[in-house]
Amino acid sequence: MVAICVECWEEYNPKRRELGYRTCLECGAANARLEKARKAKCSAPAYNKGAYQYVGSVQAARSVGR
Ligand SMILES: [Zn+2]
Repeated sequence: MVAICVECWEEYNPKRRELGYRTCLECGAANARLEKARKAKCSAPAYNKGAYQYVGSVQAARSVGR
């Protein structure tokens, strides 16, 4: 099983996903910075948008497979 980062679509260590992370180490660090900015500004929907696009692409890939 391969773990794909929801932010940059790069493969990352599956062990990291087992820990509950959906991003590679790099994006995880970037998100940690966003988290700080979110607490200050309260507006950063980029992460949710990335997750939504990832789900949509999986469904598209399945329909193409058939
Ligand atoms: Zn990434």
